[in-house]
Amino acid sequence: MFQLEGRVAIVTGGNGGIGLGMARGLARAGARVVIAARDEAKSKDAVKELEAFGAEARAVTTDVTDEAAVGRMVRATLDAFGRLDVLVNNAGTNIRKPPHEVSLAEWRQVLDTNLTSAYLCSHAAYPTMKAGGRGKIINIGSMMSIFGAGFAPAYAASKGGIVQFTRACASAWALDNIQVNAVLPGWIDTALTRRARQEIPGLHERVLQRTPAGRWGTIDDMAGIAVFLASPASDFVTGSAIPVDGGYSIQG
Ligand code: NDP
Repeated sequence: MFQLEGRVAIVTGGNGGIGLGMARGLARAGARVVIAARDEAKSKDAVKELEAFGAEARAVTTDVTDEAAVGRMVRATLDAFGRLDVLVNNAGTNIRKPPHEVSLAEWRQVLDTNLTSAYLCSHAAYPTMKAGGRGKIINIGSMMSIFGAGFAPAYAASKGGIVQFTRACASAWALDNIQVNAVLPGWIDTALTRRARQEIPGLHERVLQRTPAGRWGTIDDMAGIAVFLASPASDFVTGSAIPVDGGYSIQG
């Protein structure tokens, strides 16, 4: 039920952080994995890591905000592995400023990277998934898909949008046997949140205090949900937004 042998997955932003945690899970379950991100050296390291435990993997240098590059990403995947079953829309960024300080260029950068990218990649992957008779799309939201945050308006807008985009695609593509779900990570220790901890005094302690599990998440905490949502185990799960947060979002 959780086997991914023969399946091919693209993980955007899979060369580090949550994307790498998910790529590890998918590869360990038997999937062949394409790491799609901008930093070629980091992507090559991620591929080496996956290959070290026996998986087949490829790095395809991709800027997910660039439509032509996203088209090349899908074609390179088909050239390398002949099919595409799973797309993880994980690439993301944040610019922490209150709304009145965010420039239009910064707003666009965050929306393009976090939300428009999911549209571009899903749009590019759909014809192949439809032709193959099945597909799994996993979009990465956030606690800010649920809560607002005065210091991250563009990020919160993008992550709220991810959930609604997930629901729209899930409805549109259900009869094509393509399931589309969102994962809402809590506070996970990555480069992105290490920067947040430097920028927001007291964040580290507040997260520990509010998270019932009493700790930050690790990137390997994200592997299980990726395998579930990529595998036949989730064939009747679509349009959902699943928190993976140690209980952060159930705390009043
Ligand atoms: P990281 O900064 O560790 O990783 C971000 C990844 O996105 C990198 O692999 C980066 O690779 C890639 N990326 C960024 N911009 C682009 C782009 N234009 N094109 C292609 N790839 C890009 O962050 P996280 O692992 O923490 O974040 C991953 C996702 O999880 C994001 O969507 C984030 O919003 C979300 N998230 C994270 C949480 C956390 O606590 N860490 C909580 C909730 C959600 P490269 O630079 O090589 O392109």
